[in-house]
Amino acid sequence: TEAAPFANEPFVDFGVEENRLAMEAAIGKIKEELGREYPLRIGDEKIYTEEKIVSLNPGDVGMAIGRVSKTDRALAEKAMQAALKTFESWKNVPAEERAGVLFRAAERLRERKREFSATMVLEAGKNYAEADADTAEAIDFMEFYAREMIRLDRINETLPLTKIAGEDNRLEYIPLGVGIVIPPWNFPLAICAGMTAAAIVSGNAVLLKPASATPVVAAKFVELMEEAGLPPGVLNFVPGSGAEVGDYLTSHPKTRFISFTGSKEVGLRIGRLAAETAPGQIWIKRFVAEMGGKDGIVVDETADLGAAAQAIVSSAFGFQGQKCSAGSRAFVVESVYEEVTERIVELTKRLSIGLPERNCAIGPVIDESSYKKILGYIEIGRKEGRLLAGGGRAPGNGYYIEPTVFADVDGKARIMQEEIFGPVLAIGKAKDWREAIRLYNDTEYGLTGSFFSTDEKRIEEAERTMHCGNLYINRKCTGALVGVHPFGGFNMSGTDSKAGGRDYLLLFTQAKAISRKR
Ligand code: NAP
Repeated sequence: TEAAPFANEPFVDFGVEENRLAMEAAIGKIKEELGREYPLRIGDEKIYTEEKIVSLNPGDVGMAIGRVSKTDRALAEKAMQAALKTFESWKNVPAEERAGVLFRAAERLRERKREFSATMVLEAGKNYAEADADTAEAIDFMEFYAREMIRLDRINETLPLTKIAGEDNRLEYIPLGVGIVIPPWNFPLAICAGMTAAAIVSGNAVLLKPASATPVVAAKFVELMEEAGLPPGVLNFVPGSGAEVGDYLTSHPKTRFISFTGSKEVGLRIGRLAAETAPGQIWIKRFVAEMGGKDGIVVDETADLGAAAQAIVSSAFGFQGQKCSAGSRAFVVESVYEEVTERIVELTKRLSIGLPERNCAIGPVIDESSYKKILGYIEIGRKEGRLLAGGGRAPGNGYYIEPTVFADVDGKARIMQEEIFGPVLAIGKAKDWREAIRLYNDTEYGLTGSFFSTDEKRIEEAERTMHCGNLYINRKCTGALVGVHPFGGFNMSGTDSKAGGRDYLLLFTQAKAISRKR
C-alpha cells in the first residue's frame, strides 16, 4: 500500500489545560523511573558496563535521569564487527521493508510522544513546547526518510535514464556500509533519530554514539527502533567519550561514513581524522558534517518592527539560545534602532526563568562547562557592548542564566563573531539596510538568517545577497520543518547536507549504473 503524502506532525497546544496536565503526568512518570540503568546494544547483546555515564537534570542537578553504560575501545571494536556482519544481510533487505521499520517506529513514537518529550524536559532542560517540537521533528524525519527511500528505489520509473538501442539501463542507490552517527545534545531526539534513520533506511549499519549529556533519550530511541522490528546489529548503541570512542571509530579502516552534527571544533577534527587512510582501508570515507552557527536577523526601517522584535527575541532565547539556528545577532538600521532595541528589551524582561518541568520560558543551559563558557562571554560582552538586559546567573539548583542583551556591538566584536550557544544576544547598528546585510554576512558561519522588510526590491536583493543555508523573510530564523525547510548551512556551518530535504539520502548511498545488453 502507498503511504499518504508526507505531512508534518502537528505541535501540541500547551495553552489547552488538558495537554498541559497530560505533560505534567508524563513528567511524573519519568520521575518514577529515574536512575534506571541502560545497556549498550551490540548485535543482539545488551551489555551493562561497570563504568557509567550519569545523565543529570541541568535544571535540578541533584537529579540523575539515568545511568548509561559506557563503551571503551574493545567494546567499540566489538560493535564494529557486529555492524559489519549485519550489514551483509541488511543491505539485501528490500527498501520498502526497511522503510516499513521507520513507519512503524514513527507510529510508536507518536503513541509515546509525551514520554519522550517529558524525558527531554528533564534530561535536556527543554520547556514543553521545545520538547514537543523535538519529538515531532523526530517523527517527521522517520516519516520523510521512509518515503524518500521508497522514491529513490523507484527512481528508474520516475526519472528514467536516457534510452539507447540495444541496451537496458538503470540506476540503483545502494548503501555504503557501516557508518558512525554522532549527534549533539541540543536536539537529543530529533537529530539523533534523523541521522540514524536516514543511514539505516538507506541500507547501512550504524554505530550510534550519542552526546554524553543526553544519552537516556537516545537509549529510549534505540529501544523504540528494536520494538519497531529493526533486526539486531543494524543499530548498535555505543555511548562513550567523544575523544576515546569517537576518535577510535572515526579513524577505523572499516568505517565507511561518518554523519556528525555538533560544534565546528569537533567537526573539523573528525574531518581531519577521517581524511587519513588507515592501513587496510579501501575507500574514501564519506563525511557529512553539520556544525555551528552565528545566525542573525536584519531589520530595515520599512519592517513591521513589533514582529521583528518578537522574532529576534524568540530566535535568540528559544531553548536558551542553544540551537544551531539561534539568532544570536541582530542588525538594525539607525533610524529605527532605538525603537527596535527597546522593544527587544521589553520582551526579554518578560521571559520567565525557572524549572523546565514548570514550563518556564527560559530554563537552564546544558551543563557546567557551557554555563561557565557563557558567563565568560557575558563578561566579554560587558566590554564590547551596552548591557540592556540580564547579564548573569539566575537563581535555581541548576545552570540558569538570564537572557542577556547587549546593544551597540561592533561587527568584529567577539560576541558578534563566536558561537556562544547560550542566551546572549548582540545587537549592532547599521547606517542602512545594505550595511546591515554586509554586517550579517561578516562571519565564518552561514547557517540561518532572517530579513525583515516590506520593500519588495530589498527583499529580492536580500534573497540573493544574504549568504546562508536557510534564509527566512519576515519571520524568526529558528524552527525549520522537515520537508518544508531542508536544513543545513554554508562555510563553517557544515557541508550543507540538507537534513529533511530530498537530497539527504544520497549522502548515505552510492549510485550504481547497470547496463544490460539486449
Ligand atoms: P560537540 O561538543 O561538538 O559534540 C557533538 C558530538 O560529538 C557529541 O556526541 C560528542 O560526544 C561528540 N564528540 C566529541 N568529541 C569527539 C571526537 N573527538 N570524535 C567523535 N565524536 C566526538 O557539540 P554539542 O555541544 O553536542 O552540540 C552543540 C553544537 O552543535 C553547536 O555548535 C551547534 O551549533 C551544533 N549544531 C549544529 C546543527 C546543524 O544542523 N548545523 C544542529 C544542532 C547543533 P560527547 O558528548 O561525548 O563529547
